[in-house]
Amino acid sequence: MPCFIGISINNQLKFHIMKTKKFVLAENDIPKAWYNVIADMPNKPAPLIHPGTKQPIKPEDLYPLFSKAGSDQELNYTDRFIEIPDEVRKQYRIWRPTPLVRAYALERALDTPAHIYFKNESVSPVGSHKLNSAIPQAFYCKAEGVTNITTETGAGQWGAALSMAAKHFGLELAVYMVKISYEQKPYRRSIMQTYGAQVIASPSMSTKAGRKILTDRPDYQGSLGTAISEAVELAMSTPNCKYVLGSVLNQVSLHQTVIGLEAEKQMEMAGEYPDIVIACFGGGSNFSGIAFPFLRHNLSGEKATRFIAAEPSSCPKLTRGVFQYDFGDEAGYTPLIPMYTLGHQFSPANIHAGGLRYHGGGAIVSQLKHDGLIEAVDIQQLDTFKAAALFARTEGIIPAPESSHAIAATINEALKAKVEGKGKTILFNLSGHGLIDMTAYDRYFANDLANYDVTDEEIRRNTDKLEKIL
Ligand SMILES: *Cc1c(COP(=O)(O)O)cnc(C)c1O
Repeated sequence: MPCFIGISINNQLKFHIMKTKKFVLAENDIPKAWYNVIADMPNKPAPLIHPGTKQPIKPEDLYPLFSKAGSDQELNYTDRFIEIPDEVRKQYRIWRPTPLVRAYALERALDTPAHIYFKNESVSPVGSHKLNSAIPQAFYCKAEGVTNITTETGAGQWGAALSMAAKHFGLELAVYMVKISYEQKPYRRSIMQTYGAQVIASPSMSTKAGRKILTDRPDYQGSLGTAISEAVELAMSTPNCKYVLGSVLNQVSLHQTVIGLEAEKQMEMAGEYPDIVIACFGGGSNFSGIAFPFLRHNLSGEKATRFIAAEPSSCPKLTRGVFQYDFGDEAGYTPLIPMYTLGHQFSPANIHAGGLRYHGGGAIVSQLKHDGLIEAVDIQQLDTFKAAALFARTEGIIPAPESSHAIAATINEALKAKVEGKGKTILFNLSGHGLIDMTAYDRYFANDLANYDVTDEEIRRNTDKLEKIL
């Protein structure tokens, strides 16, 4: 076949490889402040409500439960940037800044004109973005003289991150792990124990909340909502003990903005700006982390990026939930949060993306969704594993089942761009790797996984029970 001198298909391939694949920052580029999107929101989230008095929560109301610094951050509606303590930045240096990667091989496999980038948060020692908030939360507790902390964990990612952070700052940690994950993901339990944490399968007989649900439903496999109730109860009944949460809260979203702040600089290095930003959605922390720093340019009117939260079809709070005050936990111990929710007693199917099995969307993301400033899509379990396998076989990284929701949504958008013939720039967050989730992959390849649909009746049965405050 005739061809231009010196240009062959091989040369073209080399050209591809010579283009920058990975955009890497220096340690000095780790952000010095987190971005607090609330300061820029046109409609601020409605206040948290005290479950007893039904009055708006004041920072002092939260001090018995959370660290003082965390409580203040939770209710900070005015400061756009909040300084990252030096000790936290020092710890971030263990794995930050994380790389931004251009997914050339995935683009080629999809034959799409879209440019696909991902921020690789799977490079942290525990394999996910969760450490970004575990470290500051543990740091603030230690700085305030706390000795013990409690938390819950779903798939075990948050528990693993907090175990490492607790050990670093010399805190004793008790983790309530959702029973289904405790059994499905024994290695995450081993990781937590390796870092020195105590791990309890939830529901357990060690708390009132756990005993009550086990009496009603002896074979209940647990949920994040129940595990949160147990952890909160232990924190409230143990001296010098605070409760620490891995998602949903404003302070967690705040800490995660290091992801997007770094990505902003890296997209600049790549000479592009995202038309679409995508992340999977459990309680909203990794979505907030990558989205908010870019969203601030939409809010100021300079940009018109689309933001897509990808949630499981089996737990569709943003796409099918109600916008309503609800508890953060199953037993109703936490403040009431204004958010999209499926009801705090909703028990999602046992999908393998354990980190996405949460009933509510958090106050900030829910308000943004309500105001049409972000979008949400729901993804079926089998589609997430198909997307994960393609990603592994092209880009080489085996993604967490949670992150695979973002990959599936990205592939959908890249294929849409192909149909439209438009060269869009898509950025997604790879929230974690799946090397400890291989049982789930085994079951996928053995055709042993299913999709789960939630009926409107099932959703209404839980949301109708909520007290109407909004
Ligand atoms: C926990 C977790 C999630 C979901 O939590 P968000 O708070 O919504 O980010 C997503 N991906 C991974 C890898 C996780 O560990």
